[in-house]
Amino acid sequence: MYLARFKYLVKLLVAHGLYAIGVLQLMQRIVLRRRAVVLMYHRVLTEEEMAVTASHPAIVVKRETFAAHMEVLKKRFHVMTVDQFIEHMERKIPFEDSSCLVTFDDGWKDNFTHALPILRRFHIPALVFLPVNFIGSNRFFWQEQLSSLIKRALGAIKHDPMLRNRLTNILAPIELAGLLEIQSYNRDTDSLVNDMVRKDKTIDIALFNDTIKQLTALLNVEPDELLKTDGFMDWGQVKSMTEYGVAFGGHGMEHRILMAMPIAEANQEIHETKKILDTRLGQAVSAFSYPNGDWSPEIAKLVEKAGFRAAFTTEPGHVRCDDDRFTVRRINIYEHDTKTTPLFLARLVGLF
Ligand SMILES: [Zn+2]
Repeated sequence: MYLARFKYLVKLLVAHGLYAIGVLQLMQRIVLRRRAVVLMYHRVLTEEEMAVTASHPAIVVKRETFAAHMEVLKKRFHVMTVDQFIEHMERKIPFEDSSCLVTFDDGWKDNFTHALPILRRFHIPALVFLPVNFIGSNRFFWQEQLSSLIKRALGAIKHDPMLRNRLTNILAPIELAGLLEIQSYNRDTDSLVNDMVRKDKTIDIALFNDTIKQLTALLNVEPDELLKTDGFMDWGQVKSMTEYGVAFGGHGMEHRILMAMPIAEANQEIHETKKILDTRLGQAVSAFSYPNGDWSPEIAKLVEKAGFRAAFTTEPGHVRCDDDRFTVRRINIYEHDTKTTPLFLARLVGLF
């Protein structure tokens, strides 16, 4: 933990030093010459929401930080719409220097409540990728559900040590029983739970869902309690965002890793996503984002065949107009590494 804090401090000092003497700005001009940077956001939360969310910190930025980011983009970058971005790639027209595209994965409710007013204030177009079956539903991702249930379980054991055995039995099949050894609950254990829950992505999703069901019953939890901060947009909110220049893309039906299912099933997921979004939005959606960032050449081909014009990964890097349109790189933006303008710029130019 101390090492992580020390590393962060070094990063902060380096970024601020380079910014103060103009090196970061120079790097931006050099590395983003005729290139675009695609920013990948997930969630925009208030300070109070950040304290209670079950989402991983790697997908969250604070509302004030997001506003500061948009101000930097407006001032120092050429902000594009998704149509402009795709046009450059399809026709191989070099991007203007320091071009950028703002994207959000998952369609979280906070994109509507917190991000939209800021996007409007700075006149920034954005692209939001929707996992179709979660929009307008009371469902959550298993990651948030499981993290929040385990955090509750840790609290419950304190009051009733008899629960330990039953919780151990429930968590053993997904290899997380070790988390019950945590004695005192604080911010560090919070991130340990977040990391552990998301560690093994290959475990069967049905097994996770079963664990969630058992924990919910044992701890007597109302799903609505989660919905307050960790829910998704509804179709009315999607529609009103389109009226303010926000575009939408596909992110699968069930947000499942496409490579972890038979290819015919993956094909079905991709086609269904396109069909439903086209109908819901009244126009052809052009962009797709691979759930969890996982793609293969075979999956990318299916996305192209389904009629999408571009697809986005989570692999970091900048984009040239002649790069492959179906494996577009993006830079993940989250609070910890982008709190200040120098840190944000350093991340965008690829320094950290
Ligand atoms: Zn996602």
